Amino acid sequence: MDRILVSACLMGEQVRYDGKAKPLAHPLLDRWRQEGRLVSLCPEMAAGLPVPRPPAEIAGSGGGASVLDGRATLVENTGRDVTAAFLLAAERALAVARQNDCRFALLIDGSPSCGSGEIYDGRFAGVKVAGQGVVAARLMRAGIAVFSHRDIEALAARLDAQP
Ligand code: SF4
Repeated sequence: MDRILVSACLMGEQVRYDGKAKPLAHPLLDRWRQEGRLVSLCPEMAAGLPVPRPPAEIAGSGGGASVLDGRATLVENTGRDVTAAFLLAAERALAVARQNDCRFALLIDGSPSCGSGEIYDGRFAGVKVAGQGVVAARLMRAGIAVFSHRDIEALAARLDAQP
């Protein structure tokens, strides 16, 4: 049975920068939870970041892949550079995925870590652009199929298509 790494905030855990959750109410998630498929993780907390914490965005172009390659940084709205913590979050997420044989991930979109379709543009102006967060980019690079929370049905279709 394929297991799925899931953003903890989607599972209702209050781990976001603002101390809140963003629970996803969906029958597929309920079913997978009952089947024991889900591995819940907040990568930022796994890297030691506190709750609450200042919001952070990727400064520079290219999203999470650029951060992985040292061409962009993660900066809090305070101006503090938190690139090292986000890179650690990505490595911790990959380690947990591998330990639990997760070949799939369901991550909340928009986050500088978990975003897989869009992220904020780095100006703290509430503007989103296409791109991936650092965790999503790291998992993708390792061959894990990453789906945003909006694409949960597409993930279900992929799971159903597994031999
Ligand atoms: Fe949610 Fe991911 Fe941010 Fe943790 S790092 S709060 S799981 S979006």
